[in-house]
Amino acid sequence: MGNLPDNLPYNPGLRPFGPAPATAVSPFTLGTMRALDSPSQMESVLRAAMAAGINHLDTAPGYGPAETFLGLALAALQRDNLAPPGGWRITSKVLPGCDLAHGQEQLRAILERLGVAQLTNLAVHGLNLAEHLEWALHGPGAELLEWALGEGLVTQVGFSSHGKPELIEAALASGRFRFCSLHLHLFDQTRLPLARAALAGGLGVQAISPADKGGRLYDPPAELVADCSPFHPLELAYRFLLDQGISTLSLGAEQPEDLAWAAALAGPSAPRGGSGQSSANEGWLNPEQRAALGRLEAAGRARLGTERCGQCRACLPCPNGVPIPELLRLRNLAVGHGMETFAAERYNLIGRAGHWWEELNAEACRSCGACLPRCPLELPIPELLADTHRRLSAAPRRRLWG
Ligand code: SF4
Ligand code: SF4
Repeated sequence: MGNLPDNLPYNPGLRPFGPAPATAVSPFTLGTMRALDSPSQMESVLRAAMAAGINHLDTAPGYGPAETFLGLALAALQRDNLAPPGGWRITSKVLPGCDLAHGQEQLRAILERLGVAQLTNLAVHGLNLAEHLEWALHGPGAELLEWALGEGLVTQVGFSSHGKPELIEAALASGRFRFCSLHLHLFDQTRLPLARAALAGGLGVQAISPADKGGRLYDPPAELVADCSPFHPLELAYRFLLDQGISTLSLGAEQPEDLAWAAALAGPSAPRGGSGQSSANEGWLNPEQRAALGRLEAAGRARLGTERCGQCRACLPCPNGVPIPELLRLRNLAVGHGMETFAAERYNLIGRAGHWWEELNAEACRSCGACLPRCPLELPIPELLADTHRRLSAAPRRRLWG
């Protein structure tokens, strides 16, 4: 990981987010897509975020009134002379696909809503398809990003992606971006190698919503609670990602109380697990927490037995486009960890969220058998897919971003 810039006040909780001179961000990032009932709700969440040692705010034009409410909340705190050491770091986003003039208009509107002259980070929001990457590298998006940097309206550019690992790899390899926001979870480690490579290359890496998208861990099922005991599943999930060196974890707070874990784990003077060292990725897991993670994994393996999908992706591509590993991951969670509610929620969003999530569920399997010889675990993939559908298929559910 890169070094922090010299001109920032000492704060052992800050972590570099991008190449030197790095932006420095807190281990937790306030996601602003949930405190949308009123400006006062956003303000109370922002005050709690600051008290929890958070200096990084993640917003987007697509989050309803979030930017407007956040701008009002920032102004209210400024009137009270309240700001984190070194000031707020703010990330907002533009959707891929617009022309240059529209993109410029969008960015100016973002800055106006937030009441700031410059964004710390501008992300391409949902770089999920090859054409999105093309837009950002060679199309109007490339011009837009260059213009934003050249005008000093943003400090650095990056992307968020819900896309396939291959697309994310190509985006990281392009050299265009200085940070990325990815689905990185204790219960979905598919993209962790990409995150490690990005970190090794000096990029900032943000984990998208480990609490919610990572498995509804704020409301864990009884099996999960027992397997993680004496620790809360969410605490282990957060500590696992920080131990991996992930720069910052987004936390979409609706109420100040939602930031309790951030305050407990990353407050300016809060004790950490382990040795208490202050480097970015050390001291987040002590031996007891590592042992609990080991018990958790062993319990999942025991419940799944020989039906556990190892998530190696060797079965791909399916000639019918079935996202085998993603579907069997949901089955792993339901059977292995009692996470049926979360798995069913994700399963029933398939085909309903455009390029933000999978488009085909297990019913697309035609039992052709092409994947079978490729699976090193010799799993009966068509049968497991049919079982996944039986277990998880239900009435459609509401979707938030991501
Ligand atoms: S058996 Fe099903 S999942 Fe496997 S390759 Fe054929 S259609 Fe795809
Ligand atoms: S090859 Fe087998 S173990 Fe690997 S992801 Fe596919 S189904 Fe799972």
